[in-house]
Order: sequence, then structure tokens, then C-alpha cells
Amino acid sequence: MPILTAVKKRLSGDTAVVYECRNCGTVLEANEWTCSCCGSIEIAEYESGEYDAP
Ligand SMILES: [Zn+2]
Repeated sequence: MPILTAVKKRLSGDTAVVYECRNCGTVLEANEWTCSCCGSIEIAEYESGEYDAP
């Protein structure tokens, strides 16, 4: 893999975290602590790398 691609891949997602409402599944921004859709405070935190599709 070219080094630039590796760097881009790292910057674009490997270390990012996804926040998702446990109640309705809405994906939230990192600075949102309540769901903007349903108002739930049950927010799940995932490493986005786990969800990278080929
Ligand atoms: Zn919600």
C-alpha cells in the first residue's frame, strides 16, 4: 500500500469514534450527548474502524 493511502486511511477513520443512539439508532456527532432525534441519553460509542466495509 502506498504510504499516502495508508495515512489517508488512518486520518479518515481508523481512530474516529461513532456515537449512536441506543434507542433509535441515529448517528450523532461526538459533541452530542443526547439524541437529536428521540432525545434519549443512551448513547453507544463505537470505533468506526469496526464498521469499515471493503
Ligand atoms: Zn434516538
